[in-house]
Amino acid sequence: MTYIPEALRRLVYERASGRCEYCLLHSADGYMPHEVDHIYAEKHGGVTAEYNVCLSCFECNRHKGSDLSSIDPLTGEVIQLFHPRRDKWTEHFRLNGAFLEPLTPQGRVTVFLLQMNNPKRLLEREILIEAQRYP
Ligand SMILES: [Zn+2]
Repeated sequence: MTYIPEALRRLVYERASGRCEYCLLHSADGYMPHEVDHIYAEKHGGVTAEYNVCLSCFECNRHKGSDLSSIDPLTGEVIQLFHPRRDKWTEHFRLNGAFLEPLTPQGRVTVFLLQMNNPKRLLEREILIEAQRYP
């Protein structure tokens, strides 16, 4: 695991207001600490710099791993994942209650690969919405 300088870690956390930049879960509500994710993994040449890192919850980061793209479950095309530094969240996703609804092929592969709507995560968001802690 790469060393992330404390100043960069703080910048990433503050820039994201403590929320996972994929699923919007707040770090105070995760059962594991949020992590600094290399959007383009180091094994693909991604560097440890502001423009290539984002705040990710444990679940999103584990499912994403070092992947850059996935296969669109609707069309079978290879599509790049949502890129939190280049892409605008609201153009690719919309919340329908606790359900994270993808709006684009990029949104679709990201929701699919990161398993953002698996039953456990849906239930977690339902509970947080009920408690007015999400989004
Ligand atoms: Zn997440």
